[in-house]
Amino acid sequence: PSSPKKTKNRRDSMFDYKSDAARKVELIAKSRDERRLKQAEEKTMREQMMQAMEHATPYWEFAHMISEFKQGVEFKPLRDTDPVVENQITVCVRKRPLNDRESRRKEVDVVSVPTKNQLIVHEPKHKVDLTKYLENQHFRFDYVFDDSCTNDIVYKFTAKPLVKTIFDGGMATCFAYGQTGSGKTHTMGGEFKGKIQNFKNGIYGLVAVDVFKQIANPKYAKMNYIVSASFFEIYGKLVFDLLSKKQRLRVLEDGKQQVQVVGLTEKIVSKVEDVLDIIQKGSLERTSGQTSKNSNSSRSHAVFQIILRKAGSRVVEGKFSLIDLAGNERGADTSKSNRQTRIEGADINKSLLALKECIRALGRKGAHLPFRGSKLTQVLRDSFIGEKSRTCMIALISPGNTSVDHSLNTLRYADRVKELVANDSLDD
Ligand code: ADP
Ligand code: MG
Repeated sequence: PSSPKKTKNRRDSMFDYKSDAARKVELIAKSRDERRLKQAEEKTMREQMMQAMEHATPYWEFAHMISEFKQGVEFKPLRDTDPVVENQITVCVRKRPLNDRESRRKEVDVVSVPTKNQLIVHEPKHKVDLTKYLENQHFRFDYVFDDSCTNDIVYKFTAKPLVKTIFDGGMATCFAYGQTGSGKTHTMGGEFKGKIQNFKNGIYGLVAVDVFKQIANPKYAKMNYIVSASFFEIYGKLVFDLLSKKQRLRVLEDGKQQVQVVGLTEKIVSKVEDVLDIIQKGSLERTSGQTSKNSNSSRSHAVFQIILRKAGSRVVEGKFSLIDLAGNERGADTSKSNRQTRIEGADINKSLLALKECIRALGRKGAHLPFRGSKLTQVLRDSFIGEKSRTCMIALISPGNTSVDHSLNTLRYADRVKELVANDSLDD
């Protein structure tokens, strides 16, 4: 029984023998532990401060109210397999995701998309006593695309159904409308990876693919169609050819109200790649020499057209016009800024109002077409005529709380282009 003690004593003596070195090790370990503890404390302090700062941003209460609202909603968004409805006028809305800059600024996503055709804007408001509350505004459109939708899905429900129109003796138009930065060029031209744009997955390129598919269809093969494309820009009252170094073009109207853009480049195309080359060339021309967000492209309308003729004839059998409109905030902002900017804003405003009236006239047979209201509606005149003509408007919105006024303006405009019955209930 005494042996364990003996062992212990021996160990103790060994310890004593090494005590100096061991004590040093112990000291180092202790200070290391203390350092770690201090670091951990600092970290939690930092985290608590971050949290406090987060709550210090003015929007966390709204964020909380919106997330509570969303918890009470059963989301049934658009699915790829949903039926595509054939309309003469289609009006839809696409909401993009919050971008990095908005996320960094802790912006709140104030837009909910509960179903395939409904949208709610949660507008942050203050009562007189400064209590915060949400004004939830409901909208209904033909389709609403939430931030998970790709260009392919948007295309399927918007421009794709209009491709057959131009093979059927009709005119087709598709407009991208919205505030600068809301996703018009992303939707029409193709997704951006940094500054590089993938022209294959924009609506321009996707239309081209389907046009050539139709051409190859035995039903149309014997028609000997010649396909051509043009790309131009409308800047106030001026028109510039994007396929000819921005050469300035004149718009003429003859005695029969036929409108012509004189000297516009029209390139004959025989395959999708030819069209993609044109889209790339025109898009680069459009943005060349631009520096900031206050770029020219946000102040001009870009018009890309695919034209169908029979071999040996000048007669236009069908035409698809795809338009990346000027930023609509330009029209709204008339108070500040200099004279030039104000004039530009007024021009843009006028053209967007004329556009709305022309689309509405298309939907009402025999209605007066106020196409002379702007250069844009003048050059698109023939597209607003005829029972076979069809149009689609894609309204783009930014989801962040700082964009809420612009988003509401965009939604109200789109709403008036085609007045669908508003429906406040969420069960479709
Ligand atoms: P606009 O032409 O309306 O001024 P852009 O198309 O240039 O706006 O879009 C602004 C930025 O937002 C671009 O960097 C674009 O890639 C990005 N963006 C727009 N829509 C989407 C989307 N649906 N998903 C992801 N990013 C988007
Ligand atoms: Mg753009």
